[in-house]
Amino acid sequence: MIRIDCPFCGLRDHSEFSYGGDASINYPPLDAPAEQWHDAVFLRENIRGRQLETWQHTSGCRMWLNVERDTVSHEIFAVWPAHRGYGRVLHAEKENTE
Ligand SMILES: [Zn+2]
Repeated sequence: MIRIDCPFCGLRDHSEFSYGGDASINYPPLDAPAEQWHDAVFLRENIRGRQLETWQHTSGCRMWLNVERDTVSHEIFAVWPAHRGYGRVLHAEKENTE
């Protein structure tokens, strides 16, 4: 069973989340040739081991998260908000409550 520690809601079962895809992809500019978009959207490595993924907490806060996970053991090494601005809000909230 995969349990993801949402930075906003806490530790939750993975059934509350939706897998978003590979978080390590650098998408091309919007006006890039179709071949570049084809490669970015459809060509994937099937990584055995640690990979960066995006997950959305669809049954919780609905936030998008970056998750560093081992695809073999399912061990999760890190979880953080996918949008950097929300990370700053989280840190500010923790500093204000300490
Ligand atoms: Zn959440």
